[in-house]
Amino acid sequence: MSLIELTAPAKINLSLDVVGKRPDGYHLLRTVMQSIDLADRITIEQSTNHEQPERIAVITRNHNLIPNDRHNTAWKAAFVFFDELKDPFLEKISIKITIDKHIPVAAGLAGGSADAAAVLVGLNKLYKTNLTIGELERLAVQVGADVPFTMHGGTILCEGIGEKLTPLPAWEDLYLLLCCPNDGLLTAQVFSDYDQADCVNHPDTERVVSAIRSRDLALLASCTANVLQPVSESRRPELKAIRQALIEQGAVLAQMSGSGPSVFGLFRSQVLCQKAANRLLQDLPDDVRIYVCRTTAAGPTEI
Ligand code: ATP
Repeated sequence: MSLIELTAPAKINLSLDVVGKRPDGYHLLRTVMQSIDLADRITIEQSTNHEQPERIAVITRNHNLIPNDRHNTAWKAAFVFFDELKDPFLEKISIKITIDKHIPVAAGLAGGSADAAAVLVGLNKLYKTNLTIGELERLAVQVGADVPFTMHGGTILCEGIGEKLTPLPAWEDLYLLLCCPNDGLLTAQVFSDYDQADCVNHPDTERVVSAIRSRDLALLASCTANVLQPVSESRRPELKAIRQALIEQGAVLAQMSGSGPSVFGLFRSQVLCQKAANRLLQDLPDDVRIYVCRTTAAGPTEI
């Protein structure tokens, strides 16, 4: 086998709290992340040195602003993988990674992290290197804070800078409407705004976890929050309007994902979710993309 194709699912944050800051400036989070079925598609192919001089080449389809060099998360993941193994056979090969981009970029959906996770899982399978999940997690942390989560997928309480994972019972097949304004938000800017904010609405994470364990959507809606939402909404007031529109259309919970600007609404059924989508397609501005999605237990999966 010299080629592997995988899905790279996005995530939403069912809750997001900031519980501290490290001396180096990293914010310590306590967040429940949830995989959804909106996914990029990653293809990893082996090429010969004579076809391709560079050891790792990345091509991104459907998006022309993502860097295809060492700044691409998929490139970084391949680099740390080869660097870890230092295998004489692998030293000689070159690979080409193709990213079919479907996850909106800089949207709070961890698209870059999902791609990196799929590359780590894919290379481990392609070259039968049998790295354990613990070894892959150690590499994942080196690439980015959300990569350990996106490597596992499902429903997980993530703490620290994303390296401490407590898996929860996967909440599958929950319908959500994802609304993604075209203009992204810079994560670093949102955290810097958060540092200046004086009024913060924290989630009750213990109750969030209970709500997930008992699959109680109403309880989840009553105790969850995303502490970054007020600061992102004060920069981008249209996010609050989207949230209100989702509630008016029957969402049990409407909340921003990550540092935004994506906003999701959770619905009690596929029919209600689709009905809300039809309405919001008419009501929201054209630069807001709308996706009907489902939660999933899957991380990167070979196709
Ligand atoms: P997070 O929720 O983890 O903060 P995000 O969803 O807000 O992430 P990404 O879509 O991962 O943001 O993109 C953030 C930045 O990373 C963008 O500016 C983009 O150019 C860069 N980037 C590098 N590699 C990738 C990749 N494979 N996919 C998407 N963005 C990438």
